[in-house]
Amino acid sequence: MALPRPTSLSPTKVTSFKDCALAFRLSNIDRIPEPSSIPAVKGTVVHRALQLLFAEEEPERRTLDAALARLERAVPEVLSAAENADLAFDDETLAAFVADAETLVRNELELEDPRQVRVIGTELRLSVELGNLRLTGIIDRLDLDDDGRLVVTDYKTGRAPSRGYEQTRLAGVHFYALLCEELLGVRPARVQLLHLREPVVISTVPTDQSLEAWRRQTAAVWSAVERACDEEDFRPRPGPACSWCPYHIYCPAVGGDLNRLPPVAVPA
Ligand code: SF4
Repeated sequence: MALPRPTSLSPTKVTSFKDCALAFRLSNIDRIPEPSSIPAVKGTVVHRALQLLFAEEEPERRTLDAALARLERAVPEVLSAAENADLAFDDETLAAFVADAETLVRNELELEDPRQVRVIGTELRLSVELGNLRLTGIIDRLDLDDDGRLVVTDYKTGRAPSRGYEQTRLAGVHFYALLCEELLGVRPARVQLLHLREPVVISTVPTDQSLEAWRRQTAAVWSAVERACDEEDFRPRPGPACSWCPYHIYCPAVGGDLNRLPPVAVPA
């Protein structure tokens, strides 16, 4: 029996399918919830603090103190969300969590002067139809550069990629550049990843070739997803991601059993 197809593709889903088709299926078709983790929640806290800073403050008031005040607001807001209820913090781990989040926010202000950033929008949800495929994505921040051209900015709170893998990590922002071009009719002049851990900026200029490559790659992944759904054939691909994959009990490649899966809910 064919599995229901997912309704859209995002950069995360494209990467997930390419990394391991079974993990993609469990997350996006069977919709098995992933337990929250401290690194992921820390990323959410830092993104939220920066969103508040850029969305609420006038440019000249985007100081370090203002950023840290937004962080203070973001921590209880994110940690009190229902999906994070299973995270256990004692005083010591909470203090370490907040201190590390603060380091990441401070590093953002080392990478750029927020008072100089001309923000158009933050956490922008974009969605566009390309043939029989819907692309969706959330852009952390869309800015204008000194010449009035669009710049797509994405914050990263994990480790920056090693040399030679930068372009792989920039794949997601090329996807956002494609969304901007399709939706707004304007190609961003630059896409950049702000890696807050190191801190370091990795940026690139979208070109006809890079966007066409993304269009083709996304269409190929979508065809592969459709085929896998029709044939109910999502194979595990053991690799480094297995060490943090939450689906071991279902994955035959690591001793799990797909028969433990609940029935798939057919989307409305
Ligand atoms: S354990 Fe590894 S092979 Fe299995 S689903 Fe997770 S990532 Fe894929």
